[in-house]
Amino acid sequence: MVTIKDKTFVPFISAEVIQARIQELAGQINEDYAHRQPLIVIVLNGAFIFAADLVKHLTIPCEITFIRVASYAATESSGQVKEILGLTDTIAGRDLILVEDIVDTGLTISEVCSQLQAQNPASLAVTTLLFKPDALKKPLDLSYVGFEIENRFVLGYGLDYDGWGRNTKDILVLES
Ligand code: 5GP
Repeated sequence: MVTIKDKTFVPFISAEVIQARIQELAGQINEDYAHRQPLIVIVLNGAFIFAADLVKHLTIPCEITFIRVASYAATESSGQVKEILGLTDTIAGRDLILVEDIVDTGLTISEVCSQLQAQNPASLAVTTLLFKPDALKKPLDLSYVGFEIENRFVLGYGLDYDGWGRNTKDILVLES
């Protein structure tokens, strides 16, 4: 049991299980991109540890870049606007692999994907460490999923609770 700020978290996915699954995902990517040279687009902040471990197992030639997604409320009718920050690379004609920490409602990643698609990449695949299918609000094509999990709040291995708790090797879940 671990207390982060005012909440209690319990073990959920161990470091060993995470590492084994990441090796499998990297192996799949190495096969699928055997004759391509993708641009890996890492979505900060939450994906930083997952992405670092994943790319260590990639044997294909690849470039790596980082983006952030800023959300702000526009009007009540349009809801949250997502803006991609930090993308300085030319992505037209490139094979993109987007690396995310977690897909919850899917609204963030689907907005990011449609903004990237507008710049005409050759292809766009999404890798996420965690996916909550029960929370999904928009159909999404996720090419590489580490773990499908239930709709509970998780933390650790890069994911935070209010800025805290990113620095654990295991993934923890909010005690129910
Ligand atoms: P979505 O747009 O898919 O609903 O939300 C994606 C973002 O919400 C993730 O990148 C992450 O920052 C945050 N998020 C969603 N679920 C969780 C969770 O269980 N734990 C943490 N720490 N963040 C989450």
